[in-house]
Amino acid sequence: MNAEHRTNDGHAPATGDGTPGRVWLITGASSGFGRAIASAALAAGDTVVATARRPETLDDLVAAHPDRAVAVQLDVTDTARIADVVADTVLWYGRIDVVVNNAGMGMIGAVEETSDRELRDLMDLHFFGPAALVRAVLPHMRRNGSGAVVQMSSMGGRFTFPGVGAYSATKFALEGLSEALAVEVAPHGIKVLIVEPGSFRTGFAGGGALHQSAALPAYEATVGPVRSDLPGSDGKQEGDPAKAATAILTALDAPDTPLRLPLGNDAADAVLAALDASRAEVLTWEKLSRSTAFED
Ligand code: NDP
Repeated sequence: MNAEHRTNDGHAPATGDGTPGRVWLITGASSGFGRAIASAALAAGDTVVATARRPETLDDLVAAHPDRAVAVQLDVTDTARIADVVADTVLWYGRIDVVVNNAGMGMIGAVEETSDRELRDLMDLHFFGPAALVRAVLPHMRRNGSGAVVQMSSMGGRFTFPGVGAYSATKFALEGLSEALAVEVAPHGIKVLIVEPGSFRTGFAGGGALHQSAALPAYEATVGPVRSDLPGSDGKQEGDPAKAATAILTALDAPDTPLRLPLGNDAADAVLAALDASRAEVLTWEKLSRSTAFED
């Protein structure tokens, strides 16, 4: 057994074919969406491998479902460990039906204010870790001819605004990878669902989770409001993570699971507006776009 794990009684979970429901592997399950998705899956009768940097934060979840929940230590930027956690999950439960790349964090900073280190660290968390986890689970899902990959992106994975360019870059990268992935794995019976939440009441905007790059006075007018508004929204966001989790399960259960699912009134409004603006811009410049072919 490779992965350090915790269960209610400190023993390894039961192995074998009798695993009830679907088997989920969820990253960043200590709080917010990750915990809500784990709870919803357990309420649906499924089995959950909930991963977290500090697995003891999941003790209550495991205690409430000792036969169907296990907490496993995983920092998703530790890509070497990802393979061990996947191997152990398959060893214990025989398969992985749903993987949820959820772990993440907010970051505010103008592009010029964001250091190379900050950008690379966020790419590790939102892109390279999830990509490694997808690579590790796909052989098992292909062998079973079924499975689902849930990618927690953001409405900021579809459009962006001042102060969140780096955050959006990581989510755009995840969405680009996932769009191609969906077509590649569909013939193997595997679904890909990109989730694009708006503002939800999780730990995301709280002081401990949200990273802010060192501010330059030059960006006070454009990025300054975001630096105060996002933390100011903490605890007051409209979105309910439990309802988001229910919506994700509903979308996964549908025969025509969407590739992208915005969540929340703010996300639905903003994504529709961004799509309209994007289409209008292409149409405005269409003649110039089409003027670049050889004449022969
Ligand atoms: P939370 O802060 O409540 O949860 C984030 C989770 O990610 C925590 O469990 C945290 O663990 C975990 N995490 C952070 N870094 C790592 C790491 N290196 N390895 C493993 N786990 C890690 O926020 P949310 O639930 O909102 O965030 C979940 C996802 O939702 C993120 O991908 C975020 O980008 C996305 N999202 C959130 C929105 C919102 O408004 N809430 C809007 C759009 C997207 P720990 O407890 O150890 O810190």
